[in-house]
Amino acid sequence: MASNQQALRELPSVESLAKSLSQESSLPRAMITAFIQRETRQFRSEILEGASPTRSEMEAEITHRLNTFSVSRIQPVINATGVVIHTNLGRSPLGAETAEALTKIATGYCNLEFNLAEGNRGKRAGYLETALASILETEAATAVNNCAAALVITLRHLCKGDKNEVIVSRGELVEIGGGFRIPEILETSGAKLVEVGATNKTHLDDYANAITPQTAMILKVHRSNFYIGGFTDDPSIQELAELAHKHGLPLIEDIGSGALLNTDTLAPIEHEPKPQDSLAYGVDLVCFSGDKLLGGPQSGIIAGKSSLIAGIKKEPFYRAVRCDKLILTVLQECIDTYLDTKSSNDTSKVPALDFISKDKGALEIRAKAIINSVPSELAKQLSISETTARTGGGTMPKSEIPSIAVRISPRSVSVNQLAYRLRTGNPAVVGTVVENMLHLDLRTVFENQDKHLTKAIITGLQD
Ligand SMILES: *Cc1c(COP(=O)(O)O)cnc(C)c1O
Repeated sequence: MASNQQALRELPSVESLAKSLSQESSLPRAMITAFIQRETRQFRSEILEGASPTRSEMEAEITHRLNTFSVSRIQPVINATGVVIHTNLGRSPLGAETAEALTKIATGYCNLEFNLAEGNRGKRAGYLETALASILETEAATAVNNCAAALVITLRHLCKGDKNEVIVSRGELVEIGGGFRIPEILETSGAKLVEVGATNKTHLDDYANAITPQTAMILKVHRSNFYIGGFTDDPSIQELAELAHKHGLPLIEDIGSGALLNTDTLAPIEHEPKPQDSLAYGVDLVCFSGDKLLGGPQSGIIAGKSSLIAGIKKEPFYRAVRCDKLILTVLQECIDTYLDTKSSNDTSKVPALDFISKDKGALEIRAKAIINSVPSELAKQLSISETTARTGGGTMPKSEIPSIAVRISPRSVSVNQLAYRLRTGNPAVVGTVVENMLHLDLRTVFENQDKHLTKAIITGLQD
């Protein structure tokens, strides 16, 4: 008990610790104070349970935790992982022009739901919906919070009462990550999953035999983050559409990434299915993410039959998953960019596609330049390495894009220590540790970040 009292007296003073820590931290002073209060409360209860840390131990620990907390604030990161659509790093970066349009709308008023021609209430996202339908060569389209929301609202709209059975191939019961599993999404949407076929093979008859008066729709899900090889079979979209329509049912496809361009012409990678192709083959509605290969903001696009889109937009739940003006602005800008550059395969305004299509030789020149601008005694720890970049984000799991990294074999710090220094530096740099070396893959680094990367390397390697 006595030592407890002693330990309690060791608790740091919130005010004086806040004063000293706020000198080095860029966080608001009130945040620092509140953080220290939470931490000292935690130490107090540990002391009451018998712990007896010294003041300097507690101060050191709180300082360390504040640093960790401080770098958790959303901030720019140099992505040197070589994973282009990195979900943990915010998926697709926006083009500079797109971001400029965002600033203009964000800092003022806009005609979000106002008809400027008539001077009265207007349709939300009217331009965007028509632009989406145009680029996808289909009747209608809309955008919601993300692809998961797009699928949920589509299921909720089409599965009503007893007519709620959704037929899905066993080979397509995908888990995308972050809690997105097709069977669970169906369940929360009031749909009843009817699995057909086997993991590797599903025949048209499997679908046909599963159709009952309770069937609401046939659902096709793109295997976006895995592949099945060997003895496999699936009916074509055309066959599935024909079967569904013969029974008066809609065919819905969750296509995941939804590349609008032919990815196989951008780089030596696979062809990612395009939503416009699925729609042309007879899918009634397709849904996909806005922030994967489209290169836009987090959103989910639903496109296809106008009667279905109109029904979905009338669902009360639509209001809960609709996009705000900032997202709608970015998406509008992004789709207009595609409409501008559609025929030329020009990817310069969509950074994600630009990264995928970058020539390896150009990356090698940049790697050399980085190494040459590091002081020669540090440069000995650097070399150029051939690496494999990926599209990521649950797209094209087989695609390996030949790439180039600056490889660091640190002498005076451990590789993990170096990786930590780079991650917590300013700007933060995230690379990959491979066999005791740090790889900084240049495929996902913007060229104008090379100088920051160089600086980060120099700072990281210093004693
Ligand atoms: C990524 C993905 C999703 C989830 O998309 P979000 O926009 O992250 O909600 C759903 N389905 C498929 C097939 C995907 O690849």
